Amino acid sequence: MDTKQITVTSPLLPDLDEFNSMLKEIWNSKWITNNGQFHKQLETELCKYLKVPYISIFTNGTLPLLTALQALRITGEVITTPYSFVATTHSLWWNGIKPVFVDIEESTCGIDPDRIEAAITPRTTAIMPVHCYGKPCNTKRIQEIADKYGLKVIYDAAHAFGVEVNRESILNAGDISTLSFHATKVYNTIEGGAMVIHDEMTKKRIDFLKNFGFADETTVVAPGINGKVDEMRAAYGLLNLRHVDAAIAARKRVATIYREELRNVLGVRFFDDMPGVRHNYSYFPIFIKAEEFGMTRDELYFKMKEQNVLGRRYFYPLISEFSTYRGLPSATPENLPVATRIANEVICLPMHHELSDNDIERILNCIKR
Ligand SMILES: *Cc1c(COP(=O)(O)O)cnc(C)c1O
Repeated sequence: MDTKQITVTSPLLPDLDEFNSMLKEIWNSKWITNNGQFHKQLETELCKYLKVPYISIFTNGTLPLLTALQALRITGEVITTPYSFVATTHSLWWNGIKPVFVDIEESTCGIDPDRIEAAITPRTTAIMPVHCYGKPCNTKRIQEIADKYGLKVIYDAAHAFGVEVNRESILNAGDISTLSFHATKVYNTIEGGAMVIHDEMTKKRIDFLKNFGFADETTVVAPGINGKVDEMRAAYGLLNLRHVDAAIAARKRVATIYREELRNVLGVRFFDDMPGVRHNYSYFPIFIKAEEFGMTRDELYFKMKEQNVLGRRYFYPLISEFSTYRGLPSATPENLPVATRIANEVICLPMHHELSDNDIERILNCIKR
């Protein structure tokens, strides 16, 4: 047995010498945090790369979710998806907002727009969808519903770095979109995140909120938080931005091989590219139909583990199954039949820019054998 462990992801790392020379600049300037030069430069370059008007970077991807809800003064109930990373729902809970779970679509694993209206009550103030695996939600339908009922839309776009539909950034949908730049994501600043904003006023407000609410030396305009990014991570982020296109291309190559090799394997479903979409290949989920495949998802998952191939069951368990949320009226499997089924079928295969042909073969052999 090949013992080299194949992990589900591997971080994109900048060139150490290049990073070192930027660190020297920081040391010389003695300006190490608080909207420094690299911080400003990273926001400018991210706007350009992502084709968005305004961006505010944060120390992680959870803070922009928390801060977006504060900035838009969201209260009451928010409609969201149970099929995501827990931070999505936690951000509501930390703001004293009641999450209302709505089922997902099998075709995207995103919130099912057809089920949103039935979940709206007089207390509903917003919708928080997730572009799960970087697959774009039906943003047009979601916006129509939001407009009809006067709701805000905050997209958790943690998976959707660089994703475009018909050459327009998916991050421009809704009122605000948030990103995560965690080490496990397509683009990382070790820990990090960002908020995508559409107008200058809101950008200003967000920048105050991420700096304790300070508008100037003596004026605090709101109960803000500390979400500021230091110069080391901003420098790291600037370097990684130069290599992210190559990383996405390498991921696309892996996805292409996976699809070719798994196309005729009975009981294995996966996603194809969507027409007009620039994908980022952040994840490669497969969905196991136990009867046809001859093995359950968990049996395959543990068999892969035995071979030192570490897939991940994203997203199992559902957020609605965790103890905090289990008691909510919307958290029942009856209300969430698709999400409940998919959570028991999914394995995300290893997916990153450094997978070799030999790695890919080992991964596929676990499934095909
Ligand atoms: C990673 C992730 C987050 C949280 O980001 P952090 O940077 O780890 O705080 C939020 N939502 C989703 C869907 C994620 O995958």
